[in-house]
Formats: sequence, C-alpha cells, structure tokens
Amino acid sequence: MKRVPKVHVIGAGVIGLTTATLLLIEGYDVTILAKHFPGDMSIDYTSPWAGARWKTLAPNDDARLQRYDADSFKIFWELAKCRADETGIMVIPAFDYYKDPTADQRNPWWKKVVPGFRKLSRKELPKDVDIGYTFTTVAITPERYLRWLQSQFVALGGKRKHVEISNLTDAMDDPQNTVDIIVNCAGMHAAGIQGVNDPHINKPVRGQNVVVRAKHIRKTISVKTKQEYTYVIPRADGTVILGTTKDEGNRSAEPDPAIAKDIMERACKHCPELTNGKGIERLDVVGDIIGLRPKRNGGPRVETEVKVSPSGKPILVAHNYGHDGSGYQASWGSAKHAVKLIKEHHETLRAQSSKIQELLSRL
Ligand SMILES: Cc1cc2nc3c(=O)[nH]c(=O)nc-3n(C[C@H](O)[C@H](O)[C@H](O)COP(=O)(O)OP(=O)(O)OC[C@H]3O[C@@H](n4cnc5c(N)ncnc54)[C@H](O)[C@@H]3O)c2cc1C
Repeated sequence: MKRVPKVHVIGAGVIGLTTATLLLIEGYDVTILAKHFPGDMSIDYTSPWAGARWKTLAPNDDARLQRYDADSFKIFWELAKCRADETGIMVIPAFDYYKDPTADQRNPWWKKVVPGFRKLSRKELPKDVDIGYTFTTVAITPERYLRWLQSQFVALGGKRKHVEISNLTDAMDDPQNTVDIIVNCAGMHAAGIQGVNDPHINKPVRGQNVVVRAKHIRKTISVKTKQEYTYVIPRADGTVILGTTKDEGNRSAEPDPAIAKDIMERACKHCPELTNGKGIERLDVVGDIIGLRPKRNGGPRVETEVKVSPSGKPILVAHNYGHDGSGYQASWGSAKHAVKLIKEHHETLRAQSSKIQELLSRL
C-alpha cells in the first residue's frame, strides 16, 4: 500500500493556509510550520493587514496572473453565498475611477469575470477622473477569514507547529525521516530562508491605511492616478479601510500621522458619504494599519524543484510566494496551480525512486 505523502508547508498567511487546505483535500498529510498564525499581529505577517477585496492588478498580457485572480474570484463568490458570516466575505458594489488611464485600464481583461460590469457614463463620473467602471465584487475581513481558513485546515486533519525556519533543511527532516514535500509560503521572508535562491525577489512595499467605523458604507471605491491610489473598502464588522500608500523598501511599523491625514482627506473627497460631507474631523477613527506587501518582479513564484535532505533523501520543494498586493485575490488560483505542480512532480519523483529501488533489488 502507498504511504500518504507527508508535506511541510512553511507559512500560515492567506497563501500558506489556502495551499495547505487544498493539499489536505487532495489527501496529503500536511503540517504547517510557521512563526505567525491567525490571531498574531506583526509587521512580519502581512495577511492580517490587507484591505482586502478583489480588484485585480493582473496585467492584460499575463494569462497566469489572470487565471489566479479569476479562479479565486469564483471561490470567494461561492463562499460569500454560503459562508458569509464565518468568513466575513461580503458581496458589494464597486466603483473604480482612473485619471490618465493606461491602455490596460481602458480595456480591462476582467470585465467578464465580475458580475454587473459596466463602463460609467461621463455624467456618472466625479469631475477629476477620466474613466470609471462599476461592477460587483467581494470584500474580505482578513482576521475573520484567516481564522476560518485555519479552522477548515484543522477540521480536515491538518497539524500546526510554531517554529521559525532559517534553512530549508530545517523543514526537511522529522525524527522519522518521513517528510516528502516542502511548500515555501513564507511571504516576504520566503527568499530569506537559506537554500531558497531567487534573483527576482524585491523589497516589500509598505502600505499605510486608516480604519474607521462607518457601517453605512457598503460599497468599495478606488481612484487611481499616476501619483496616488485611494480606496475605501468596507468590512463585515462595520469598519471601513481607507487607503493607501505604496512605499517600497520602507519597513517601519510606525504610522505617519501626516500620511494618515492625507489618506483621510483623499477618502473623504472621493467618498463624502463617509461623514455625510462633513469632512475628516467627523471620521470615527479606530486606528492605523501598516503592512508590507511581499513584492516580487514578474509576479509570485509558483514552481517546484528537487533538493536533497541532510539524510540524503530527495525532497520536492514547491514555492508559492511573492503575491505583492494580490495575495487574497490570487490565493485560491495560485494554490491550485501549486498543488497541480506538486501532484505531477511528486508522482515523477516517486516513480524514479521506485525504479531505482527495483534496480537495486535485482543486483
Ligand atoms: C495595506 C495592504 C493592503 C492590501 N490589500 C489587499 C487587497 O485588497 N487584496 C488582496 O488580494 N491583497 C491585498 N494585500 C496583499 C496581501 O495582504 C498579501 O499579498 C498577502 O497577505 C500575502 O500573504 P502570504 O501568506 O504570502 O504572506 P504572510 O501573510 O506574510 O504570511 C507569511 C507566513 O510565513 C511565516 N514565515 C515567514 N518566514 C518564516 C520563517 N523563516 N519560519 C517560519 N515561518 C515563517 C509567517 O510567520 C507567516 O505565517 C494588501 C496588503 C497590504 C499590506
């Protein structure tokens, strides 16, 4: 009888939890090894700080990233229908505005992915933007969603271990020497683990946001100009996220009050309903959010390679990290791709090793 392959997934952010859950569903024996789990709050752990809604950033000429986002949208849409309370996923109207739009923004590839997509008429546009769209999307409440994902993982038989991995080999050997596969989902720290070679890793991109209480806001707005990106994203708990900044290489966990004020001004300008037109003084501020987006040139790394453990065993190493500002909206699609690669390449590795064993047994 075939032994169930044993997998160590490094990381319990949205990417690690999603990948680990899909691997369990495929019948693998999965343990997550991570420094942070849902409930922890640290600048080193991006997932709790996300917006987070589906608003694809995949370029028109990148079919791989488009597939990740489109596949994920379908799953979030289904979860919103049947698990809205537990997951904190809401279906909401979206209004997307652009000043000086790029060719991609003028012809969005995703118009057939989201329901109710429509280009706004000139009359419907705010005065200082050039084009705009409305459609229906999903917004996710990160902490609630991460806890839900983790509970699904545990309910399916997944195991968890609090540990910091400094070298890939730390995750390769357990006392019984039975680990077959490692999946590196360590977000912005993925390429800092020894044994991971990645010339495409970039500095993380800091995002500062403001959280306010405004349960009457049940729509999301985004305004993109060449200089700024402003958004308003409601959450299931009645709070609303106002954003944002993109500051590459700045790792400070301290909020900048001037930036917070600028964000609130931009948000109230584009969404005056936040305070019924009465300005930022009337915002009911809960606090600041600072998160580091795990950026990688060319998009997330979803690929496999074979390494040899200290005890000499070939181990399949899969990578699924570097999702920048799209970790939620790409999560299911990129996890599905990672699991497909793992299944294919582990079968090949297993077939090669049984051929060698057969050969040795005949000597
Ligand atoms: C302000 C902001 C707004 C955002 N808005 C959106 C949005 O609207 N939509 C969207 O799709 N995305 C959004 N994102 C992006 C999204 O949050 C990230 O892409 C996503 O959270 C990355 O998840 P991850 O699992 O790869 O990394 P993380 O959440 O950082 O998880 C990494 C995991 O690896 C573990 N780990 C790391 N190194 C080690 C180690 N050496 N040993 C053991 N464990 C280790 C960590 O402890 C953690 O468990 C936003 C991000 C920010 C900052």
